Amino acid sequence: MPQKNKFHAVYRCFAGCEGEYPLDEIIYRCPTCGGLLEVQHDMDSLKVMSGKEWRNLFEKRFMQPQHPFGSGIWGKKEWINPTMQDENIVSLWEGGTNLFAAQRLRKMMGIDNLYVKLCGNSHTGSFKDLGMTVLVSQVKQMIASGQEIRAVACASTGDTSAALAAYCAAAGIPAVVLLPANKISVAQLIQPLANGALTLSLDTDFDGCMAIVKQLTERKDIYLANSMNSLRVEGQKSISVEITQQLQWLVPDWVVVPGGNLGNISAIGKGFQMAYELGVIDRLPRLVCAQAQNANPLYESYQNGFADFYPKQAQKTLASAIQIGNPVSVHKAIKTLKAFEGIVEQASEEELANAAALGDLAGLFTCPHTGVALAATQKLRDRGDIQPKETVVVVSTAHGLKFTEFKQKYHESHLKEFASRYANLPKTLPATLDAVMEAVENRI
Ligand SMILES: *Cc1c(COP(=O)(O)O)cnc(C)c1O
Ligand SMILES: [Zn+2]
Repeated sequence: MPQKNKFHAVYRCFAGCEGEYPLDEIIYRCPTCGGLLEVQHDMDSLKVMSGKEWRNLFEKRFMQPQHPFGSGIWGKKEWINPTMQDENIVSLWEGGTNLFAAQRLRKMMGIDNLYVKLCGNSHTGSFKDLGMTVLVSQVKQMIASGQEIRAVACASTGDTSAALAAYCAAAGIPAVVLLPANKISVAQLIQPLANGALTLSLDTDFDGCMAIVKQLTERKDIYLANSMNSLRVEGQKSISVEITQQLQWLVPDWVVVPGGNLGNISAIGKGFQMAYELGVIDRLPRLVCAQAQNANPLYESYQNGFADFYPKQAQKTLASAIQIGNPVSVHKAIKTLKAFEGIVEQASEEELANAAALGDLAGLFTCPHTGVALAATQKLRDRGDIQPKETVVVVSTAHGLKFTEFKQKYHESHLKEFASRYANLPKTLPATLDAVMEAVENRI
């Protein structure tokens, strides 16, 4: 068993500037170049355990009832935040989500070994919980050690704010969330309100909210919870380790991830790289970042071989959580995709909506972002990048129940620009057995 304080991690500049900073320092950007930081683990100390020993340790802890190791995040604590004290951990039992062997979807899509990693089956209904437990725990530890942090703040397309509000409510720390007015679902707006967060609805888009929260958190007593803060990436990294663990430590050929601010694709890459370096897995998968065509700055950059990147104004998309034109983690994502022979694919509104509905017909209840990833997967399969026998994991980022307006409009065929191929509506009948019998006979 590893001892508690043998392992160590610090912030370093992602672009490679000199200097390292402790994780309890309030710092989000490199003081030299202004770029993002990343958490750097002391890999030599982690290498005292073999890949096999790490695998055994993670398996032993996985989904056990003991606090905190039963959490999918904190069961891998040494790789995530090794200096966190157990009494400061704010966990809602995140992670450990089903890797769904999507039998019927396999047939529909022509991919024999398709899995869907259901990251939305989580406390607040999205993968954002995975990073937020790490960030809010760190804040709790900083407050416990006497630092003056009066609130935690974020800009959000709806899921980050829900996660921040829930974890802060559990910890008793005030939360401030900045949301673009009328651009998030009803459920996503109700979540931070219910959890008692100061909820500010601003007449702008996500990128506008992000610009303001960056300025707000220049005050040291308000801590920034966006994925610019690289602590969140550490927790989200666990997705990759969990996927391989659930495949009996085999590595899939492809992992497809919907991307907006591009923190998650970077995190998933980092998780695979760390597992590879520590001998837990013996190869790397290829990564696919799937963007909505209406918010596709990374796709455009990919088209010119990542030679340059231009932020753009994101257009309205049903995949509202990835309606982002100026992604904070773009350079991390590009570096990741280059290291993983990555591909960026896009999906139109019609493609994402029909792909989401097709997934539902195979037993899922998909959010529109998962629809983007499924549509991109289908395109890669159709043009032969993905071969029928390869193992493919689609990362489902949120629970469909957070996006019922999207589904309702789809099934009522109220999405103006295109036809809802799989629409299914309730039939209104007189309350008689005959009428019901007839309807059943007509369907089966
Ligand atoms: C945040 C989010 C994404 C995008 O993740 P990024 O790290 O911003 O790329 C995708 N889907 C859902 C449901 C999300 O909440
Ligand atoms: Zn730097």
